[in-house]
Amino acid sequence: MKFRALRSGWLARLLNPKNERCLGRETFVRVAQVEGGNSLPDPTITQELPPLAMKLKFYGTRGSIPICEPGFQEFGGNTTCLQITFKDSNRIAIIDAGTGIRNLGRDLQAIGHHQDQIFMAFTHFHWDHVQGFPFFKPAYDPKQKLTLLTLGKEQIAKNLHEICEVQMQSEYFPVQLDRMGATFEFMQIEKASKLFTGLDNVNTQFTTNLHNHPGGAYGFRMERNGKVLVICTDIEHGDQIDPNVVELARGADLLVHEAQYTAEELQQRRGWGHSSYDQAIQLAELAGAKRLALTHHDPDHDDVFLSRMEKLCQERFRECVLARESMELEI
Ligand SMILES: [Zn+2]
Ligand SMILES: [Zn+2]
Repeated sequence: MKFRALRSGWLARLLNPKNERCLGRETFVRVAQVEGGNSLPDPTITQELPPLAMKLKFYGTRGSIPICEPGFQEFGGNTTCLQITFKDSNRIAIIDAGTGIRNLGRDLQAIGHHQDQIFMAFTHFHWDHVQGFPFFKPAYDPKQKLTLLTLGKEQIAKNLHEICEVQMQSEYFPVQLDRMGATFEFMQIEKASKLFTGLDNVNTQFTTNLHNHPGGAYGFRMERNGKVLVICTDIEHGDQIDPNVVELARGADLLVHEAQYTAEELQQRRGWGHSSYDQAIQLAELAGAKRLALTHHDPDHDDVFLSRMEKLCQERFRECVLARESMELEI
């Protein structure tokens, strides 16, 4: 019963825009106590909560192109960027550098977060996943080391260096990569498990998977402190849900999957490289994922539309939420 209360509390608070969006461990406990009615708070309740391994924050939830019109502000207009915080060490890692990364960099400076080496991994290099990089303030700090990771075994670090260099050529941007200030390092994901484990001696395992998307894109699974986070965006399944992605997401505590289209829209946009809400839920069901967060919202889908889709999705998969900019999820 308590577990049900906790779970419904998590969802209820998340869906109420008047409530804080930052849902920490304290929130779980507080919600459980409130929902306990007249009974006294149970001091042992925290023992029912598993240890927190990671916190995920969405800095960009929009797919394809940023959007700033009114009517899109609840879910957000910045393109893909996620921040993972490792709760045991307070270290962060960044996934993709869409326009949301500008706010991420600003927040790091505002709270005085200091981390000698920041890791940034890319699912792929379409504009909506890299276009914010030149506006990431820590990249201009000469004391900052930035390690950029390719998720693909097929991509070598040299490719990654070139990709970053090209988008900052003088034809496109006034400051070139080698003049930004920070020290850059380019690395393949194969070395990431060892690297992350070595940083604070907490075993951290990365598994990546190349999936179908124009030009290819990578999903990944991160396991740490017994918790599993899977992120899979910019993916077009075939007639069937990609079985490799089902395996990647097997038993995930939190699965983040894109859902750019409705089933009807997908029929009109085959070959565009994206998934429908139905497919994302189907994948979560097949993989036995505990929670599902849908992201990479289509720029034509406004807040009213997305709120409606969220309700429909939750009727089918209860622990499902549509990602909102600045939303935090803990696992
Ligand atoms: Zn994208
Ligand atoms: Zn893409």
